[in-house]
Amino acid sequence: MDVTHPRPVRVVKFGGTSVGDIDRIRKVAARVQRIVDEGAAVALTVSAMGRSTDALVATAREVTPRPDRRELDMLMATGEQVSIALVAMALTHLGVRARSFTGGQAGFRTDSLHGNARIVQVDAEPLRRAFQEIDVAVVAGFQGVDDHGQITTLGRGGSDTTAVALAAALGVEECEIYTDTDGVYTTDPHQVPDASKLETIDYDEMLELAALGARVLHPRSVWYARRYGVRIHVRSSFTNAPGTIVTRAPRGQEAAMQTDRPVTGVALDTEHTRINVVGVPDQPGVAAAIFAALGEAGVSADMIIQGVPGALDSRQQMSFTVPRDLADDAVDAVRPVLEAIGGGSVSADPDVAKLSIVGIAIGSTPGLAGRMFAAVSAVGANIEMIATSEVRISVVIPRSHAHDALQAVHDAFGLARPTATP
Ligand code: ADP
Ligand code: ASP
Ligand code: MG
Repeated sequence: MDVTHPRPVRVVKFGGTSVGDIDRIRKVAARVQRIVDEGAAVALTVSAMGRSTDALVATAREVTPRPDRRELDMLMATGEQVSIALVAMALTHLGVRARSFTGGQAGFRTDSLHGNARIVQVDAEPLRRAFQEIDVAVVAGFQGVDDHGQITTLGRGGSDTTAVALAAALGVEECEIYTDTDGVYTTDPHQVPDASKLETIDYDEMLELAALGARVLHPRSVWYARRYGVRIHVRSSFTNAPGTIVTRAPRGQEAAMQTDRPVTGVALDTEHTRINVVGVPDQPGVAAAIFAALGEAGVSADMIIQGVPGALDSRQQMSFTVPRDLADDAVDAVRPVLEAIGGGSVSADPDVAKLSIVGIAIGSTPGLAGRMFAAVSAVGANIEMIATSEVRISVVIPRSHAHDALQAVHDAFGLARPTATP
C-alpha cells in the first residue's frame, strides 16, 4: 500500500437476518467486495446468523433455568464466531483478502458485567496493522474481553455498538448499519405497515426510541455515536434504497422540528416484566433499600410507581418494570429486603407492554398526553403505569392490547405514510 495515500476505511455492519443463511452470506460478501473494489478497506462487523443467539440461550435454559452469566456469555459469543468465520471464507472465495477477528482480537476491552458489559476501550491497532495486508477485517459483534481475559457480551442487539465503537476508534465519520428494513421508521414497519421512513433523526430521539424498544439500533450504539460524533446510516441489506441518517439536528432544524413534528416516533417494548411489591411498611428508607438491592444485583428498573392503596392501611405498594431476563434476579433481590423490614410480598407480571411516544418537543407541547391516553383507551386498553420526560411519554398496558394500541397511537399523531391515508 502507498503510505502517503492510505486507503479510506469504511465501517459497516450486517445484522443476523442479513447473514441468516449461506446464500445471504454470499450476498453480503459480494456487496462488501464492491466496496473494496471502490478502493476502501472495510471494518465489517457481523452478528450471529439468523436467530442463532436465541437458540443458544434456549439451549442453555434447557440445561438450567438460570444459567451462570459468565458461562452464558461463553456460549452466546460462539454465535458470532460462526458467522465471522463463514463471512471471511466467503470473501476469500471471491478473491478478497479477509480475516476474522473475535472481539478480543479486534481490541475490544470491556468491564466484567457479563451479559451487559460496557466497552472500556477499543484498541484500533490490530485492525490498522491488519489493513496493511488485508482488505476486510470481519469482526465479531456483541463481544469483548474483560481485564481478566474473560469473554463478555454487550447486551442483546449489541453488534450495532461494536460497529459504532469501531468507527469511533478508527476515526471514521460514518457507520453503515445494514439491516432487514431500509431505515428508521416512525414505528416498527413490520408491526405497522403504513409507518413512514425518516430521512434523518436526531441522536437524542433515536436514543430514546432505541431505549424504549425500537430494536433497529442498540441504545448504546446511539449513545456512542453521539458521544464520538459518528453519523449512523441505517440502510437495507437487500436493496439500494436511501436509508436514514442518525445525526445531530442543526439548531435551526431542531427549532423547526419543535413545531412541525412534536412526535417523531412510537416504540413498543414487550421485553419488560412488571414487578409488584405489596404490603410494605410505609416508612422512610424502604424504597432506598429495595433499589439498593436491585442495583447490587445488576438490575435497573424503568417505570416506577408507588402509592398507598387505602388510607386506613399504612402499607405501601410499589411497581416497576425490569428487562424480562432479569425478572427472577429482581424478585430474588427484593425478597430478603422485605423479610428484613418486616413485611410485604413481591411478584412478577410478564403480561405487560410498554408503549411510548418520543419527540424532542414533547415536554414543551401541551395536550400530547391526553391525545395518547385517548387513543390507548379507545382500543379498550387499561393504562397501568405512566412515566414522562422532556422527550417521551410511556404507558404500561396489558400485553394483549399492545398491537392495537400501537396502531391507534401511531394513527392519532398522524404518523402514517401520506399515500396510505385515504
Ligand atoms: P439486525 O439483525 O439487522 O440487527 P434487528 O432485528 O435487530 O436487525 O433490527 C431490525 C428490526 O427492528 C426491523 O426488522 C424492525 O422490525 C425493528 N424495528 C423496530 N422499530 C423500528 C423502527 N422504528 N424503524 C425500523 N425498524 C424497527
Ligand atoms: N447476536 C446478538 C443478538 O442476537 C447480537 C446482535 O445481533 O446484535 O442479540
Ligand atoms: Mg439488531
